[in-house]
Amino acid sequence: MKVGIIGAGTMGSGIAQAFAQTEGYEVCLCDINEEFAANGKKKIAKGLERRVLKGKITQESTDELLSRITTGVIGICVDCDLVIEAAIEDMAVKKQTFQKLQEICKEECMFVSNTSSLSITELGAGLDRPVAGMHFFNPAPVMKLVEVIAGLNTPSDMVEEIKRIATDIGKVPVQVKEAAGFVVNRVLIPMINEGIGIYAEGVADPSGIDSAMKLGANHPMGPLELGDLIGLDVVLAIMEVLHSETGDPKYRPHPLLKKMVRGGKLGQKTGSGFYQYEG
Ligand code: NAD
Repeated sequence: MKVGIIGAGTMGSGIAQAFAQTEGYEVCLCDINEEFAANGKKKIAKGLERRVLKGKITQESTDELLSRITTGVIGICVDCDLVIEAAIEDMAVKKQTFQKLQEICKEECMFVSNTSSLSITELGAGLDRPVAGMHFFNPAPVMKLVEVIAGLNTPSDMVEEIKRIATDIGKVPVQVKEAAGFVVNRVLIPMINEGIGIYAEGVADPSGIDSAMKLGANHPMGPLELGDLIGLDVVLAIMEVLHSETGDPKYRPHPLLKKMVRGGKLGQKTGSGFYQYEG
């Protein structure tokens, strides 16, 4: 099966690796230009190189995995059987992407989105085919869960096929109804936002907040380090969707979160967030 992935950032490159590590899948990894797409593949190669050095995988399997990934711009998805949209969390960008895809992809090609919070029904509106949600978690090659979301017009056989594909690449699909944030982000992202509020009020510093939640709630990562891993721009985008879709003030993004995003402190991907990162 040939799988197109639109967006070679944190999630797109992780999803590309998740497919390419399973025999039988070829991946077309795309971004707005060839350089960004190639950078996504380089990021995958770097991660694999570290695993080879640790003796966890062989050089041969790494080479094989990488040979299954082609990079470029959207046009290379022309003969894909499935396209996963993983561009930025912006309804207009995602809709434009699907419009372009329907002009170039074959009729049978299935369209899914990795959106964290946006309406699948709206993403599919006006297209010549249905859209489903296929929501991976970060880091995508490792995390087992895939939330599979049906929009109002997504047929059940498509949902079943997406669940089958998720299982085939070693994931565990959980079908959820369309709702802002689905299940995981409805719980997780407000918790990160609350952690930011606790820090802003000076109740504890970032490492204190993270240690408290790891040791007191048995979470593998604290809310602020998790926010840095996800990307604070992504956290803000999801809070904004939760807020605007529900109108509930409990989902108001914390002003410090907004300030950090405006200041380009997005977490690991920019080298600075609640913590500093090298490289
Ligand atoms: P990111 O900023 O790391 O990457 C986004 C990529 O999309 C960038 O490389 C950007 O150049 C590219 N892009 C932007 N517009 C494009 C276009 N029109 N065509 C092709 N590429 C385009 O973001 P991310 O964290 O990878 O998030 C991507 C999507 O996945 C978002 O919808 C996000 O909500 C969702 N998501 C994120 C996480 C997470 O933990 N970061 C988890 C699950 C889902």
